[in-house]
Amino acid sequence: MSRQAEKPLNDGPIIHKEKIIASKMIRIYCKKKHHEKEICGECRSLDEYVMKRLSYCKFGEAKTACAKCPIHCYAPAYRQEIKHVMRFSGPWMLLYHPIESIRHIPIPEKLKKTLSR
Ligand SMILES: [Zn+2]
Repeated sequence: MSRQAEKPLNDGPIIHKEKIIASKMIRIYCKKKHHEKEICGECRSLDEYVMKRLSYCKFGEAKTACAKCPIHCYAPAYRQEIKHVMRFSGPWMLLYHPIESIRHIPIPEKLKKTLSR
């Protein structure tokens, strides 16, 4: 069908890590906003969508943070939703998963080294 379909799916370490971070952020958001034990249906479909977008990301391992990407590959509704999630879960990520959030938040090199020790 489309040209995209011929390209193999991304599965390198950078994409993999982005998927883990996105999933964690969506789960934090759901837990604190929707108060369900398990991830709710709405957040689950957002999660699936994000995983798919990352698998098909045109830049693959060379990708930048999605927020800085010149190609907005998200459908507008999902894009709004993930923006909310990122804004909401960003500070929680610093608290829960400081190392993983480093890539997405501008932190001076020196501090990065201290944090990852
Ligand atoms: Zn939810």
